[in-house]
Amino acid sequence: MTKICCVCSKVEEDGDWITDCVTSATKRFTHGYCPACYDDVMEDLGRIVNMRNSVRPPVVQGVSNYDIADVCA
Ligand SMILES: [Zn+2]
Repeated sequence: MTKICCVCSKVEEDGDWITDCVTSATKRFTHGYCPACYDDVMEDLGRIVNMRNSVRPPVVQGVSNYDIADVCA
């Protein structure tokens, strides 16, 4: 089965990723990422994870479980 990059559509042939303009209809493909697109995706993913980790939920000052229990009682 031939590997094809789902981003740039390059195909892997003999360990190299090439632009294959003439794809055979008889070839069977499995989708993945070529090394360049993989690096791009991982970089974007790392940026998203860092962005999410930097956003913290607001801390409510002065409220304890005891205060909430008093209100509910
Ligand atoms: Zn690619």
